[in-house]
Amino acid sequence: MTTMLHATPDTAADAIPATPSEATAAPVAPTVPAGADALLPVYKRVPVTFVRGQGVELFDASGRGYLDFASGIAVNALGYGDAGIERAMHDAIASGIVHTSNLYHTEPGAALAARLVELSFADKVFFCNSGAEAVEGSFKIARKWARRGGDAPAKHEIVALRGSFHGRLFASLAATDRPAYRLPFRPLAPGVGIVERDIEDLEVAVSAETTAAVILEPVQGEGGVRVLDAGFVRAVRELTRERGVALILDEIQCGLGRTGTLFAYEQLGVVPDMVTLAKPLAGGLPMGAVLMTQDVAGAMSYGDHGTTFGGGPFVASVARHVVDRLADPVLLAHVKENGAWLGARLREMATRTSRVRDVRGTGYMWGVDVTGPASAVVAKALEAGMLVITAGEHTLRLLPPLVATRADLARGIDILEAAIAAAAQG
Ligand SMILES: *Cc1c(COP(=O)(O)O)cnc(C)c1O
Repeated sequence: MTTMLHATPDTAADAIPATPSEATAAPVAPTVPAGADALLPVYKRVPVTFVRGQGVELFDASGRGYLDFASGIAVNALGYGDAGIERAMHDAIASGIVHTSNLYHTEPGAALAARLVELSFADKVFFCNSGAEAVEGSFKIARKWARRGGDAPAKHEIVALRGSFHGRLFASLAATDRPAYRLPFRPLAPGVGIVERDIEDLEVAVSAETTAAVILEPVQGEGGVRVLDAGFVRAVRELTRERGVALILDEIQCGLGRTGTLFAYEQLGVVPDMVTLAKPLAGGLPMGAVLMTQDVAGAMSYGDHGTTFGGGPFVASVARHVVDRLADPVLLAHVKENGAWLGARLREMATRTSRVRDVRGTGYMWGVDVTGPASAVVAKALEAGMLVITAGEHTLRLLPPLVATRADLARGIDILEAAIAAAAQG
């Protein structure tokens, strides 16, 4: 197991403007690659084309560097150009097998499942190819489990929380509290509902007779970076256990080290029935997973669920390396310590400007509510050589690579503060 934390290489640091004022002096020349018109325009892409990455920075063709506080939406936990990931990919391809299907055994998927079991509450793991697939899989498993072999046909409902994001497929979208994402695609999967983040509301909504599962993100990501109260999650755990309902924790964004522990649930004092993982799991390769207890797994048998690609040997080999790196206590302590430092600096920044209304987060996952549109700040930060994303209209979302050093974080805060001021000036 390696214990590498990558500092920003000096050469890359030199490519980034040292101060925001220098940075704004050199505006971004928009570049869009040939063929971009052929892409279905479901993303409003920033007109920048990245050609290279190193450490915590991406570079465009002109050599301009961008400090990355987005990490490909919480995917690139180990940053760019990571030597260990590169080696894992080379080693994985040496067998000549990228894929065999799940009709046969290959070693990497089995080894990865065993490692995740060793590191977590889980006894069994199902692999898939994305976050939404992991969520959909967990819903199917919860229903099969809740029906206890078919003698409780009514026990099928899935309850999600206000502010949730669980994916864009029909059931995961039904569990996602974003009207704009949902409305054009109705009818969504039936039997999935959204309830306030309030234990009294849940006591009404969660029924021993009709509910199969409650799903929640320990830290809501897309919904504004909201850290759920540990006492609330423990109460949900108690309620679901009493009523024979599965508790699914969606750790696709907040899991795998981002909060300073390998799993976010470790800090809540709860043991879930299932956990969904994806984003950083395979170092940027598409992979999702559902972790579950033996009790839940016991409901599933041959033919109950499947996927052609899930857990294939190439992606699993890379994930095996990534999981070891993210489980490294040195990395986790670094995230915990520097994440607390980042939060304190952001709160200080909030006291210096009337443009920041709230700061929320934990580890390397922070939300900053601004008075104006967050997208205006994102645009100013980009001009200054920094990538940051939003979580709602007024919330900036900071998701630096977990290997970002305190110096990287400090640089990001400086650029962000200047970007907030510049956005306010129009
Ligand atoms: C991103 C995300 C998903 C969906 O993952 P995809 O890989 O985009 O399908 C689900 N849940 C949470 C919490 C996420 O952040």
